[in-house]
Amino acid sequence: MKEIILAKYGEIALKGDNRSSFEDMLTKNIKRRLKYIGEFSISRKQSTIYIEPENGADIDDAVEALKKVFGIGAVQRCAVFPKDFSIVEKSVGEYLDGALSGAKTFKVEAKRADKSFPMTSPQIQQALGDAVLDAFPQLKVDVHDPEITVRLEIRDNGAYLSAERIIGAGGMPVGSSGKALLMLSGGIDSPVAGYMMAKRGLIVDCIHYVSPPYTSDRARLKVEKLCEEMTEYCGDMRFFCVPFTEIQEKLRDYCPEGHFTVLMRRMMVKIANKVCEREGYGGIITGESLAQVASQTLPALYCTNAAAEFPVFRPVIGMDKIEISEIARKIGTFETSIMPYEDCCTVFSPKHPRTRPKIEEILEAEKAYDFDAMINEAVEKTEVKRFKYGERTVFLD
Ligand code: ATP
Ligand code: MG
Repeated sequence: MKEIILAKYGEIALKGDNRSSFEDMLTKNIKRRLKYIGEFSISRKQSTIYIEPENGADIDDAVEALKKVFGIGAVQRCAVFPKDFSIVEKSVGEYLDGALSGAKTFKVEAKRADKSFPMTSPQIQQALGDAVLDAFPQLKVDVHDPEITVRLEIRDNGAYLSAERIIGAGGMPVGSSGKALLMLSGGIDSPVAGYMMAKRGLIVDCIHYVSPPYTSDRARLKVEKLCEEMTEYCGDMRFFCVPFTEIQEKLRDYCPEGHFTVLMRRMMVKIANKVCEREGYGGIITGESLAQVASQTLPALYCTNAAAEFPVFRPVIGMDKIEISEIARKIGTFETSIMPYEDCCTVFSPKHPRTRPKIEEILEAEKAYDFDAMINEAVEKTEVKRFKYGERTVFLD
């Protein structure tokens, strides 16, 4: 019996004239991910991508990988038959055994995309329901809240029988919305912010600011590990690591202590501006959440934002820590994020940060030193690394 996976479109299905460019992008992304698993033949028809394992490629691994590809609304594992109901019927017991032998309730759904097929959808539904009940007499039909839905789709290329449809990652294919730069700290929030914007179709690359010797190599490694973990959803990723020590020292020595955090955040944004300009990123992403800490009050965000020359996306701005942590667990970054290594933000952070900074005071404070020259220097000394999907090179215990 031949088994294949159908990847059904999510939001792409709603697109109009430009739909094929999104489909191309999604197909390309699927191919990129699956090449790490084995050989698959991949084709496209009727709002569905057909993924067929070849030469013994593992279908379970493929399902796992496809669950993390943005743009897919549902991943459906099916057996393929010729378009002859009597053949399908004979395999119901065997193919559905794993899904149905332990179940109590089910329903059937039939879809006839090929209108030349001699049975109507209600007729298929009736006959398939009977076949299932014959094979699994313990089952009862429950059309409202079934444990398992058995589907038969009559498509151009064959009849597809399945009892397993998994909700996909949703969103838009990575790359279909351009690319943006994520300010990645070692915390819980920023990886989630990156995941959320990749879901909207952005290629997400990361920028991280380090302050050795105040921050350790391990703190940097932790962030690199987060990058690798994020590739599961975001795909290959570039990582910009910015030396930030001198800027922080000068801020500490020359500027009012209460404004330190906001001034530091503005310096980070100004560096990100330059990297965006040089590398062609169309926006900056942060993990800021309103009211979480002193630098995330409305007046503080106003001051940070005023330093930005690109749109700043803050997808977790309205979420609380519990909601953000839930996503972090789902995407597999939580355990790394809670490792203890210190971030550059905490190193010089004042005891009593000003929660209502005024932009005039901030601009005045920045005149105390030639920070623009330091920003240019930091950009010049920035290191770039690449993390590839499916590779694990960073280990921390
Ligand atoms: P996170 O959990 O993402 O670390 P947080 O709650 O610790 O966030 P802050 O430390 O105030 O919040 O940082 C707010 C945002 O600023 C982060 O989400 C991140 O986007 C950015 N940021 C902070 N520190 C760094 C850093 N060292 N490098 C890059 N970006 C940073
Ligand atoms: Mg942080």
